[in-house]
Amino acid sequence: MTPTIRLGRLFGIEIGFNWSLIFIFVLIAGAVATQWLPSTAPGHAATTYWLVGLAGAILFYASLIAHEMSHALVARRNGVKVAGITLWLFGGVSRLDGEPPSAGSEALIAGVGPLTSLGVAAIAFGVAYFTSNDLVGSLFSWLTTVNVALAIFNLIPAFPLDGGRLLSSVLWWRSGSRQAGVHNAVRVGRIFAYVMIAGGGVLALVFGQVINGVWLAFVGWFLLSAGSSEEAGSNVRSLLRFIPVSAAMTSPVVTLPDWVTVEQFLESIAPNHSFTTYPIHEPSGKLTGMVRLSDLVRIPAQDRRSKHLIDVARPISEVPVTNPREDLVGLIQRLGAGMDQRVLVFDNGQLVGILSPADIARLLSVRQTLAGRGRGA
Ligand SMILES: [Zn+2]
Repeated sequence: MTPTIRLGRLFGIEIGFNWSLIFIFVLIAGAVATQWLPSTAPGHAATTYWLVGLAGAILFYASLIAHEMSHALVARRNGVKVAGITLWLFGGVSRLDGEPPSAGSEALIAGVGPLTSLGVAAIAFGVAYFTSNDLVGSLFSWLTTVNVALAIFNLIPAFPLDGGRLLSSVLWWRSGSRQAGVHNAVRVGRIFAYVMIAGGGVLALVFGQVINGVWLAFVGWFLLSAGSSEEAGSNVRSLLRFIPVSAAMTSPVVTLPDWVTVEQFLESIAPNHSFTTYPIHEPSGKLTGMVRLSDLVRIPAQDRRSKHLIDVARPISEVPVTNPREDLVGLIQRLGAGMDQRVLVFDNGQLVGILSPADIARLLSVRQTLAGRGRGA
């Protein structure tokens, strides 16, 4: 799902789409142009049907964007960082960095999506009802059906669908623990996923509806794997909650003079240390940037003598910083995708440590072992 094409920004939220959508776009336009319109508004030319079909595909995606945008805007209002919206094969996903602060806000963020789709359906129904043009009427009654279907599909109680999140928020509210809510919602979602997979098998093998059957089973399989990764993410966050940065960081930090050349670094400094990333400083001691071993070895041999560390460093202003007391879950939520690099830890203006994803992974595996032992006893 990663390769996305940027479409633009709306209310400051980035919208992108996955390559898979281009095929779906043509499929939708084709289905409207060759099946729906000729049967509901007969007697027009094929080119007219195709033009209206294309408009239908565009309106369909506009409906998806309205649905996802409502999630993203309500999430932002509830203090959850929104990385953007991606449209893909199964509709849309709002990429939220972090967790809702309460069960109530999780329910609002999840519930507003299906409500928006129903709202769009109501508007489309109004247009279809009042228009005197048969093509417009036919197109908008199709759009009504599609948006009602979108709302219903999203209410299936399985992650990552809105229904799964709604169920999880109710269970969270009742048990007082988000992790327990997610855990139980994933179990319910798994049942729905298995029912869909089995239903797909029955459709294909018993009723001979191979395409519909395979499609249903595929959606079920997708919900199954999405549920597992949702639970894994929630477990990671609960294991790291209330653990300060100081417990995971590497300390002390080796900083290097920023005026040494890449060649000097590779020949006489790198072999003596086990680190892969180094903050660099100017003669006064002030930090100026950060260099990575993996970037330095990629510099061509003929440039290594003339280039100094400061020439190839990432400027210090771009390096994320934290303090030893910030809790790791808060840090991950705050930095979001920025967490894939090193974070410098300062205490009262002094550099006291450096934190890498590997440090967090190491701490996580220790915590997991301890948690496992606790449960077994
Ligand atoms: Zn939704």
